[in-house]
Amino acid sequence: GFNCGIVGLPNVGKSTLFNALTNTSKAEAANYPFCTIEPNVGIVEVLDKRLYKIAEIVKPEKITPTTIEFVDIAGLVKGASKGEGLGNQFLANIRNVDAIAHVVRCFSDENVVHVDGSVNPLRDIETINLELVFKDIESIEKRLQKVFKQAKSGDKKARLEVEVLETLKEILERGERIYPYLEKLDEGKRVVKELSLLTAKPVMYIANVDEEGLFEDNEYVKQVKELAEKEEAPVVKICAKVEAELAELEKEEKEEFLKELGMEEPGLNAVIREGYKLLDLITFFTAGEQEVRAWTIKRGTKAPQAAGKIHSDIERGFIRAEVTKYEDLIREGSMQACKEKGLMKLEGKDYEVQDGDIIYFRFNV
Ligand code: GDP
Repeated sequence: GFNCGIVGLPNVGKSTLFNALTNTSKAEAANYPFCTIEPNVGIVEVLDKRLYKIAEIVKPEKITPTTIEFVDIAGLVKGASKGEGLGNQFLANIRNVDAIAHVVRCFSDENVVHVDGSVNPLRDIETINLELVFKDIESIEKRLQKVFKQAKSGDKKARLEVEVLETLKEILERGERIYPYLEKLDEGKRVVKELSLLTAKPVMYIANVDEEGLFEDNEYVKQVKELAEKEEAPVVKICAKVEAELAELEKEEKEEFLKELGMEEPGLNAVIREGYKLLDLITFFTAGEQEVRAWTIKRGTKAPQAAGKIHSDIERGFIRAEVTKYEDLIREGSMQACKEKGLMKLEGKDYEVQDGDIIYFRFNV
């Protein structure tokens, strides 16, 4: 599966958010640093109205949404890259995630201690980003030591890598993340991947506000949005406390509460959606009488590999994909009608699966 790590300084609301997301009480929210020691992994259902619209038509026995993983990562403090707090463990955990949700405290509350004494989202963001930057510089220097020797002895490939590493190091030494430069890196992409650099992962900022902040952006949120715009990173504004309360409620109470808050949906939905976008994921559906189900793939995945998500046998024995567009099914009202109108297309192994495709795979056993 694909996963998104929740990071941020201690006491910014990570566990509260994580609990709301997973609707469990596994991660213990507590008002002191280092509460969340082991990374907690939560499997979160991706809300997608299309799934239920398809089910209304197909009337299956079972409806199965797709999921995305969130990992609650232990609190980072200044100096983590040098092993402060649970620094090294924390950073190792980030290495294993595909994207980062960076929770930033944008609420004032005297009862909630701030590790640096005051609320200041830009300073907080910089603190975390710098730790990741330091760790990446360390990885690059280690690698440089190795390749440098090879380069000196005339190895052409090694010389090229040294060049790439130097370029990456320059970016990091300016205090910048690698991610915004990824597209331009060509050869560098491979190096970045091999080193699994922390700052090469896509980031979204989660501005954690108090209830008033939900109605109108406070100063903190404005600052975060301004910074994020420069970095071309998405921002999701939530109130983790409200989300935690919402997550406890039954459907009707929840709708009532949302109305009171003037919200159309829980903020978590936006977090999940942005996570999806950040990872460049799309959804396709399978729709049979037994089960209507949503599946997650990376954009650009070809039909056989998409089939492989369901079962490796289907990928191995792939013959073709019978593809109906979601909009067509909804408009025509049944699979049969789509078929009769020639809206069900037969696609081969080079077909790139599109978001919203409803697919029936033909395969040899
Ligand atoms: P973590 O260390 O980042 O995981 O932070 P926690 O989720 O444990 O939250 C730390 C403290 O801040 C807890 O006492 C939470 O109840 C409180 N908290 C979290 N989110 C909010 C919020 O949106 N508003 C307020 N006032 N307090 C919050």
